Amino acid sequence: MTGRVVVAGASMGGLRAAEQLRAAGWTGTITVVGDEPHMPYNRPPLSKEVLAGKAPFESLAFTPKAAAADVDWRLGTRVAAARLAERTVALDDGSEISYDGLVVATGMRPRRLRCPGPLAGRHTVRTIDDAQGLREELTRTGARVVVVGAGFIGCEVAATAVALGVTEVTVVDPLPLPMVGPLGDLLARALLKRHEERGVRFALGTGVAGFEGEDRVTGVVLSDGTVLPADVVVESVGSVANTEWLAGNGLDLTDGVLTDEQLRVGGRPEVVAVGDVARFPNARYDGASRRVEHWSI
Ligand SMILES: Cc1cc2nc3c(=O)[nH]c(=O)nc-3n(C[C@H](O)[C@H](O)[C@H](O)COP(=O)(O)OP(=O)(O)OC[C@H]3O[C@@H](n4cnc5c(N)ncnc54)[C@H](O)[C@@H]3O)c2cc1C
Repeated sequence: MTGRVVVAGASMGGLRAAEQLRAAGWTGTITVVGDEPHMPYNRPPLSKEVLAGKAPFESLAFTPKAAAADVDWRLGTRVAAARLAERTVALDDGSEISYDGLVVATGMRPRRLRCPGPLAGRHTVRTIDDAQGLREELTRTGARVVVVGAGFIGCEVAATAVALGVTEVTVVDPLPLPMVGPLGDLLARALLKRHEERGVRFALGTGVAGFEGEDRVTGVVLSDGTVLPADVVVESVGSVANTEWLAGNGLDLTDGVLTDEQLRVGGRPEVVAVGDVARFPNARYDGASRRVEHWSI
């Protein structure tokens, strides 16, 4: 088989797609384009072991299977646009690549709070660079931390921060309990108790109205007017799919990229989407099309 498959996104989904192409007998070129400068790595430890300083990059990096050793990696490069009708993608370095097959594996990025106030001191956790940058700030003596969002990542960051010795960690969320959506009332109450016993504080049932500070954040203003002093803020309020580069191709990009049950995009047999960005009919639930932001080996 000759020709080229372009994989957009050099993370778990992109790597596994490249490996699977080789396993299925594709002998043509595989070019993986990723905007991060790193080879694919495992993200779950970012909010846990990496933040705790227990996992260097080498321990997170996936080792590509031998069959995929000849993959052409273009790292630190963003796919800026795609023209599906012409089977080309444009990269942010000005080059263009033609393909015979395209894999959409551009995943998610953190949603940001659109509140007034300075940006410096406000963090998100999606990449290894994010986690290492946040760790540097958390390990400064006397940092007061406010985590906005009591979901999985927010609660993990709060727990890791107190384990690191940060004495003032407050989690803010408009819902009455942490992780109440995925866990339900009973488990969420138990989780709240466990976190509080370890020193995490909670401001629940309230949102964030803005941030105080001139050049850098000094406090978080809650919807009821209360101000929580903060040197470091972590925003963990969900994620947004990286699909802008696919605009203009007539695709449904409402929440990720809509695929059919075989992950084909826009009815085109040569374009598929994988990983967090793919919104596919999922028989495991109700058959409705949805994205899944989890992975299994
Ligand atoms: C802190 C954290 C903790 C997590 N914990 C768990 C857990 O405990 N269990 C679990 O199952 N899952 C967890 N997840 C989710 C899991 O990491 C994701 O499901 C997985 O990373 C999805 O892989 P992906 O390849 O689809 O997307 P991503 O990992 O998001 O990778 C997409 C890649 O594409 C790049 N990209 C985006 N746009 C472009 C573009 N235009 N051009 C080129 N490259 C681009 C991105 O920078 C990124 O490198 C966690 C995620 C995070 C962030």
